[in-house]
Amino acid sequence: MTGKQGFCYDSLVRDCYRSGGYVYAARPGDVTGKPGVTRVARLASNENPDPPSPRAIEMGKAALCDANRYPGDQVTGLVSALQKYHGPYHFVTGVGMDGVIETVLRTFVCAGDRVAISTPTFSFYGLAAMGQGADVISVPRENDFSVDPVRFVREAADAKVSFLCSPNNPTGTVTPASDVAEILEGLSGILFLDNAYVEFCNEEYRPLMKKYGNLVIGRTMSKAFSLAGLRVGYAFVPEWMVPCYTRAMTPFSLNSVSASAAIGALEDADHVTRARERVTRLRDFVCRECRFPVHPSGANFVLVDVAPHKGCDVAARLAGRGVIVRSCESFPGLGDHYIRVSIGEEWEMKRFLEEINCL
Ligand code: PMP
Repeated sequence: MTGKQGFCYDSLVRDCYRSGGYVYAARPGDVTGKPGVTRVARLASNENPDPPSPRAIEMGKAALCDANRYPGDQVTGLVSALQKYHGPYHFVTGVGMDGVIETVLRTFVCAGDRVAISTPTFSFYGLAAMGQGADVISVPRENDFSVDPVRFVREAADAKVSFLCSPNNPTGTVTPASDVAEILEGLSGILFLDNAYVEFCNEEYRPLMKKYGNLVIGRTMSKAFSLAGLRVGYAFVPEWMVPCYTRAMTPFSLNSVSASAAIGALEDADHVTRARERVTRLRDFVCRECRFPVHPSGANFVLVDVAPHKGCDVAARLAGRGVIVRSCESFPGLGDHYIRVSIGEEWEMKRFLEEINCL
């Protein structure tokens, strides 16, 4: 669009937002209406197929009645609920873990500062770092997608913030806590350990917080707690970080309905146990029954190597048959022959296997 004297408004847009951006998974509306598709298996976004806990729904509804007021007590209430659930840690909250990632970067990273990312991984670290004008360094994982701590420390040595995802999206790889400790020994900047899928594995990183004052452990209520649509994220942080994070965050960003529903969800531990049991059982089932190699996963999804096919062709073919999975071509450093498949309900996994095994 042009303005006065032919001035082109588009030229005001920062170079980093002229192309690219977050790649969203296909939605059911993209495939319903295709011949033969009566029910859509939604296996592209690693959500929990169970609806939120009744207690979360009840508390979210009650908070809606007070939505004429800005959020306040609900967010402090969420921090207290997190302390009750996890123990006496220090927490920060955000609009999803995405919001936490963004605020952490805003707190620490100036234009030109280095941000290191263990890749291939979740794309938003790079996008958010780019928004700060950071100099982003990718630290490649090994061929089996494990992280070499020595290499990580060497390449991330002067980074202000480094990102390590475990279990890693999209590979499912779990990094042992001893390797994370080795990395923390060597880093002088902040290590953001993204623990979005923690409920589906057995690795525990929180004890490291006692020793290392530069560790942030990001968590989300979008997965095991079934609150993806409400956008609630939080992180375990060292105490010194709480005031500066709070100054950097957008005021009132976490809304009162989401915060209240999250408090309700934290009261229902059985909800998470059920999700964990379903994921463990069906993840084993998919690993056993899939005719393509499936990478070991500690998350509620698996990475499937569909070579010699291309991930995008397989995802398109399955979508046409009512099974939505994620092609992984948009994950830099991963190659073009992978799909990521969420562990959904039993009928969804059976549908997936029917389709993938006849390729
Ligand atoms: N980290 C990882 C590894 C993820 O996969 C996701 C969401 N897919 C997020 C963070 C963001 O989570 P949230 O929904 O809380 O923003």
